[in-house]
Amino acid sequence: MTNPVNSTYVPKRVMVIVAHPDDIEFGCAGTIARWVRQGAEACYVLCTSGDVGILDPNITREQAAAIREPEQIAAAKHIGVNNVVFLQEPDGMLEPTMALRKRLVREIRRFQPDTLITGNPQTLWAGDGYINHPDHRAAATAAIDAVFPAAGMPTLFKELEAEGLTAHKTYKVYVEAWDNSATTFVNITDTIDLKIEALKFHKSQMQDWDPAPFIRERAAEAAKGKEMAYAEAYRVITFDDALPKEEPQPQSTSAEQVQAAPEGA
Ligand SMILES: [Zn+2]
Repeated sequence: MTNPVNSTYVPKRVMVIVAHPDDIEFGCAGTIARWVRQGAEACYVLCTSGDVGILDPNITREQAAAIREPEQIAAAKHIGVNNVVFLQEPDGMLEPTMALRKRLVREIRRFQPDTLITGNPQTLWAGDGYINHPDHRAAATAAIDAVFPAAGMPTLFKELEAEGLTAHKTYKVYVEAWDNSATTFVNITDTIDLKIEALKFHKSQMQDWDPAPFIRERAAEAAKGKEMAYAEAYRVITFDDALPKEEPQPQSTSAEQVQAAPEGA
């Protein structure tokens, strides 16, 4: 285990895979906003359209999806992300099946991210008042199983070649970590306002609730003891054999660590 570092890595192409509309805005939107401002291109993949997430028995699942997909598109656009894919799997019933893995492999081979962000499939609960939604675990499991090793194996799902899609290896996987497993903290001090604004586009979910205090409190907690006011925290897995070619070596260590290197090293 490395010491937690303040990441200055910037991907060229980052894909986020989640279960529901608003998962990204609650999760990694501050990081995405930061990276987009530094030149990254981002793609969101939503496994479901949140079609059972409006708790009104008079609103059908079809109606709910028709409300929530535009909310997600607007939230993405607000931070500069125009590429949003809805797989439209059934909300509340998501399972990490081989069929879902293949659908995600297709998206990974299509977009060719160097970096993938998803949730933590091992998070069953947090604190004393939260059980992680099974769809979140399913989406995260399917995403991790799709990105490694499936997407990078040339003869697995070879039929996708008919769509012009061939094997693609992803360099880094960022797993959202709101516990002590975090190894990397992305400074979102300059983008937390954008994150909060993006979250507010999910009007069907926010209603009268102002998410700002909750988001700020959590981001401040993640940043505690580091040289930043607000952070998003990740466990980062790096595949050195998938380092993008013809790209400068990404810098993934903090300034302190560079200074601490022995002279002449
Ligand atoms: Zn969710």
